[in-house]
Amino acid sequence: MIIDAHTHLLPPAVAKSRHSFFRRDESFRLLYENEKARLARPIDLLENMDREGVHRSVICGFPWQDPALCREGNDFLWECQARYPGRFLPLACFSLRSLREAEKERDRCLAQGFAGIGELSFYRGGLSAERIRLLTALLKPLQSKGIPVLLHTNEPVGHEYPGKISGGLLPVFRLLQALPDVTFVLAHWGGGFFFYELMPEVARAAAGVFYDTAASPFLYRSLIYSLALRIIGPRRILFGSDYPLLPPQRYFSEMAEAHLPARVQARIQGLNAGRLFFRTPNGGRPRQDQV
Ligand SMILES: [Zn+2]
Repeated sequence: MIIDAHTHLLPPAVAKSRHSFFRRDESFRLLYENEKARLARPIDLLENMDREGVHRSVICGFPWQDPALCREGNDFLWECQARYPGRFLPLACFSLRSLREAEKERDRCLAQGFAGIGELSFYRGGLSAERIRLLTALLKPLQSKGIPVLLHTNEPVGHEYPGKISGGLLPVFRLLQALPDVTFVLAHWGGGFFFYELMPEVARAAAGVFYDTAASPFLYRSLIYSLALRIIGPRRILFGSDYPLLPPQRYFSEMAEAHLPARVQARIQGLNAGRLFFRTPNGGRPRQDQV
C-alpha cells in the first residue's frame, strides 16, 4: 500500500477566496499570496492519488493563529475522511494562542479518531523558548502513546522562500529533549536534522523520530535518500509529497534515480507510514478496516 504521509487540504471557503483570509492570518498571507501556491480540493487530491497509484493520504490543514479557524479546518478534514472512507488520514492542528483552547482541541480531535497532530508550524517567530514550553505542556499527555506529531522543520541554510523559518535546528533538538517519548515526524527531512544523528546524544534524543520527504525535489539532490538511509536506516523515512506543492510521481522518480532497492522503497512509500498512522488514539491495535 502506498501512503502519502504529508498533504494539505483547506476548507472550500479558503480555497475559493484566499484573499479574505490574508488579513486574518499573516502567516497564511505569507505562504499563499502568490497565486502559484496552489490550494487543492479533496477531489483534486483523490484524482491525483488514483492517477499516481497512491492508496491513502495523510491530510493536514493550515496552522492558523485563530483557534476558531483551526477548529473549522479540523472539522473539514474529518468530513473529508468520512466522505471518502479509507482514503484519508486526518491530522489535527491547534493554535498556541490559548493553551486551554489548544488542549480542548487536541482532546476533541484525538477522541474523534484523528490519526495524529500536525502539521504544526511556526512560520512567524519560529520555535521560540516560550513556544517550546507551551508545546511541551500540550504534547506531554501524548508520551508513549505512539500518536504521531508532524512538525514543520526547514533547512537553516540555502535559498529563501515564503515560510522558511530562521532560527536553526537547536530549538528542534530542545523540543525532542523535552519530549523524549513523543513520536515526532520532522517534515522536509527535518531540515537536515538527521545528519546530526551521527552525534550519539542527538541519535539518542531522536531515536523515535521519523522524517518525511516533503518538498525534497525542490531542496535536495536525490542523493539525499542514500545518505539518509546510511545514517538513520530505512524504517524512519516516510514518503510525503506536500501535495499540491508537488505530485507524488516526482518523488517516485527520484527514488528510482537514487537506485533504492525495491524493499526499501516499499518501506518509505507506505510500510513505515502504515505502522505509524494506523493506531487508535490510545495507542492500541489498529481497527480491521484501517489496515
Ligand atoms: Zn511544512
